[in-house]
Amino acid sequence: MRRKLVAGNWKMNGSIAANALLLAEIKAEFGNAACDAAVCVPAPYLAQCQALLSDSAIALGAQDLSIHEAGAYTGEVSATMLLEFACRYVIVGHSERRAYFGETDELVAQKTARALRAGLVPIVCVGETLAQREAGQTDAIVGQQIDAVLSLIAENDLAKIVVAYEPVWAIGTGKTATPEMAQEVHAMLRKRLSAKNTQAATEVKILYGGSMKPENAKELLAMPDIDGGLIGGAALKAADFLSIICAA
Ligand code: PGA
Repeated sequence: MRRKLVAGNWKMNGSIAANALLLAEIKAEFGNAACDAAVCVPAPYLAQCQALLSDSAIALGAQDLSIHEAGAYTGEVSATMLLEFACRYVIVGHSERRAYFGETDELVAQKTARALRAGLVPIVCVGETLAQREAGQTDAIVGQQIDAVLSLIAENDLAKIVVAYEPVWAIGTGKTATPEMAQEVHAMLRKRLSAKNTQAATEVKILYGGSMKPENAKELLAMPDIDGGLIGGAALKAADFLSIICAA
């Protein structure tokens, strides 16, 4: 039985004041949730959020990392730095990074490998655009994205990753994949993972992301291969985030 994970992706949102309020509200109601929860915050707020979460079971995560260990890479943040702030997770290959910052399947694979080497849990994002779905290319595109990652990581490391299926057309648009549509891709992904390591594939959490909200979370999370959510917009409202955690 895979324990579900609900991870908030704050993207480039927040402020010292807003973060303190949001986390206080979430912590007040979180209690003994039956699932794992995390918030992936902008790098400048890692220290603040680490302190705010020190007495909580909610884990901390980052939204990106460098493939380099240290040195002359202006603007980059290393895995070692993330570990200093007790990060457990790091999002890798979010579609916004792929689309706006030119991240290729190869770079995403390298970032995943770097996170694993450092002992961080990479949340590896994959997903097709609307044009690709309409052209019947969903399996090919998502398959290619996950295969690039699988080709670079060791068989023994497979169980240490989290995968997030995020159809690009569903992110921030209010459009959600139906539970059946999502389940179909999740099952395909698990099959690909299984070709690498059958046992580990049964353990890997595959999250759904893309306009998951209180109104649709229960149905999505009821599907056999949907093991949680990567939540954008709804993670910025304590009541919505908590309600998704409850649904899990
Ligand atoms: P959304 O974002 O929930 O706002 O659609 C999800 C994500 O991009 O991770």
